Amino acid sequence: MDAFQFIRAESLSTAAQHGAGAKFVAGGTNLIDMMKLDVERPKVVVDINGLPLDRIVEGPGTSLFLGALARNADVAQHPAVQGNYAVLSQALLSGASPQLRNMATTGGNLLQRTRCPYFRDTAHACNKREPGSGCSAIGGHDRMLAVLGTSEHCIATNPSDQNVALTALEAKLQIQGAGGTRTIPISEFYKLPGTTPHIETVLQPGELITGVMLTEPPAGNKSVYVKLRDRAAYEFALASAAVVIQLNGRRIEYARVALGGVGTVPWRSPEAEALLHGAPADPVTFRRAAEAALKNAHPQSENGFKIELARRCLVRALTTATSSDTSRTL
Ligand SMILES: Cc1cc2nc3c(=O)[nH]c(=O)nc-3n(C[C@H](O)[C@H](O)[C@H](O)COP(=O)(O)OP(=O)(O)OC[C@H]3O[C@@H](n4cnc5c(N)ncnc54)[C@H](O)[C@@H]3O)c2cc1C
Ligand code: SF4
Repeated sequence: MDAFQFIRAESLSTAAQHGAGAKFVAGGTNLIDMMKLDVERPKVVVDINGLPLDRIVEGPGTSLFLGALARNADVAQHPAVQGNYAVLSQALLSGASPQLRNMATTGGNLLQRTRCPYFRDTAHACNKREPGSGCSAIGGHDRMLAVLGTSEHCIATNPSDQNVALTALEAKLQIQGAGGTRTIPISEFYKLPGTTPHIETVLQPGELITGVMLTEPPAGNKSVYVKLRDRAAYEFALASAAVVIQLNGRRIEYARVALGGVGTVPWRSPEAEALLHGAPADPVTFRRAAEAALKNAHPQSENGFKIELARRCLVRALTTATSSDTSRTL
């Protein structure tokens, strides 16, 4: 690991913040791992924990603001989140471990790096780590990697559970930079790998995520997160689905669908949403929506199973969200 400076945000000059190789650290559960593995080598690490960004604020109206430093555990247990944004609480509680959730933050989770094993091992070629070096995952062990949004340069999965729920909730991210504050929908935040897999988001150097704004889905909605993985705890998704559904009788009035574990970015599915809208809430509709969501999936050598797994995951999420049996377990 290179020698680096560790300084607090309050004492930081603007020039230092914009200097090459500066990184913010929040919970540190991802960045410090990356530094130990020699995958990330920031010259300057800026501790943002002293900033007043850990609050969860209700309102105005039907909105909820999650400060970028709000811990995953606090967000998951907050009454407003459990009440109106249940899918987010479920997604957070399905991730990592209680100790990690006590440290991990909303902003850090948004920017956690891929778990692609070749990205994390500097002995292998990786276009995301070293642009232009190649991709060892393609033709290698790709069981955990993506089937949607891939390119011939990178097939890494976005690993987050939180981000899938935030996508189904159409969250907006508040960003502060030298030029001021901007707000962007989460659907415009992540970039597909294309020919530049090292550029993962639209965040500019020095920009800080200050928070996430949520607006309540329509009254009477039900939202559900289903995560399928190799073991029941402490494991990333092979496939996951976040759905927000509102019914009128047995007809679907409102549907938002996002998938995790299968996409290079948290994967919103407008195709599935279009099929669900106005359709009866029944197994035929759910299966058709699942087929549509995975229509453009592109399997690699070991991860073809994820396509059917993701379809079944989405069917299960939709079935649970539209069931009147609230005792049903995920
Ligand atoms: C063993 C283990 C198991 C895990 N299992 C899961 C799982 O099942 N599901 C899941 O979703 N996640 C899982 N995680 C990942 C975990 O959720 C992330 O490590 C965590 O959310 C990162 O948050 P953090 O605050 O610690 O980020 P940090 O490590 O502090 O930062 C991560 C990145 O975000 C940047 N950053 C942080 N805050 C800001 C900000 N406000 N503005 C701009 N940039 C910022 C940092 O510079 C860094 O690049 C697991 C992690 C571990 C170690
Ligand atoms: S899939 Fe992406 S992250 Fe993994 S080795 Fe290839 S380029 Fe690197």
